Amino acid sequence: MKHIATSLLALALLGAAGHAHAAQNCTIKLAGNDAMQFDQKSVTVSASCPKITIQLAHTGKLAANVMGHNVIVSQTADMAAVTAAALKAGAAAGYVPKDPKVIGETRTIGGGQTTTGSFPGSKLKAGGDYSFYCSFPGHSSMMKGKLVVTK
Ligand code: ZN
Repeated sequence: MKHIATSLLALALLGAAGHAHAAQNCTIKLAGNDAMQFDQKSVTVSASCPKITIQLAHTGKLAANVMGHNVIVSQTADMAAVTAAALKAGAAAGYVPKDPKVIGETRTIGGGQTTTGSFPGSKLKAGGDYSFYCSFPGHSSMMKGKLVVTK
C-alpha cells in the first residue's frame, strides 16, 4: 500500500513537471557575434502568444556596415526569396525588405548594440516549418536557425 502511494506521488510530480515544461515561450532571444554566428540553432515559441518578442544583441565590435546583424522570421521555404529581397532593399533599408513573406524582424545593428522587434503569435502555425536568420548579405548561410512553433 505504501508503495502504491509513493508511485502515485511520483506520477503527480511527473505531471507537474510536464506542465511546467509546456509553459509558453514568447521570446526569441539571440546574440550574434563578429564570427557571423548566432548563439542558438533552435528556438521554440508558442503560436498562442499574443506577442512574440525578438531580442537581438550584437556581442561583436564590428560596425553595422561590415558585420551588421538582424533577425528575420519567415517560413523556411521563403528564406531564399526574402534574402534576395533584402539585397534589393539594400543598405539604406538595413537589408530588411518590406515583404509580406517576412513574419517578424528587427532592424540591423552593429557591434555592442541591441535591438528588439515583435509580431503576433497568430502569424505562426503550430508545427509549421519556420526559420530565423540574418538577412545581411551573405550571412544567412551561417546565421540561421529553426523556429519551432508549438500551440
Ligand atoms: Zn548578420
